Amino acid sequence: VTAGYVGLTYDDGPHAGTTMPLLDALRAGGALATFFIWGAHADDHPDLLRAIASAGMWIGNHTYTHPYLTRLAEQAVVEEIARTQRTIQAITGQAPTLFRPPYGDTDDGVRAQADRLGLSEVLWTVDSRDWDGARTADIVEAAASLRDGDIILMHDLGHRATVDAVEPVLAGLSARGLRPGRIVFAPGPDDVARPVAVAP
Ligand SMILES: [Zn+2]
Repeated sequence: VTAGYVGLTYDDGPHAGTTMPLLDALRAGGALATFFIWGAHADDHPDLLRAIASAGMWIGNHTYTHPYLTRLAEQAVVEEIARTQRTIQAITGQAPTLFRPPYGDTDDGVRAQADRLGLSEVLWTVDSRDWDGARTADIVEAAASLRDGDIILMHDLGHRATVDAVEPVLAGLSARGLRPGRIVFAPGPDDVARPVAVAP
């Protein structure tokens, strides 16, 4: 019996210290996740981005230099997103359809440019705060609040606690009948499409 699906997301990689350990831990748990890729990091570590793709993980666009997009001119926003799209496509052969603005910093203009480039914006419903020094136990506790369709923010940016949390997070989800899923857009109660996790 499945109580539903949750989206595990890892931002800011690839990273020499955590990408492979994260992939190993996810594989060991039979789990898939969405990696929002920092374009410059992909150019630094194309082999690691290929490993993410080969592991069957979903890949999203997280801009090239990770700026606050609402502070940039429109053309700079387009270039941040488009350059990352080209980078990911050159390395993996696939073009992302999901986009996450750095720091969740977005507005109608940013969303419009992403949309024009064929990308839909995905934020999150639960923040693990691994970027803010959360320990493994804190990340596990944050994941314990996930419900069907929720999306949790985590990072592929060298945090050991995030790697160590994979196994207990998956065990906790499994105990509640929840499974890691794929992020898609579905209409909410107000009929507005929003990102939710569904069966892979
Ligand atoms: Zn980020």
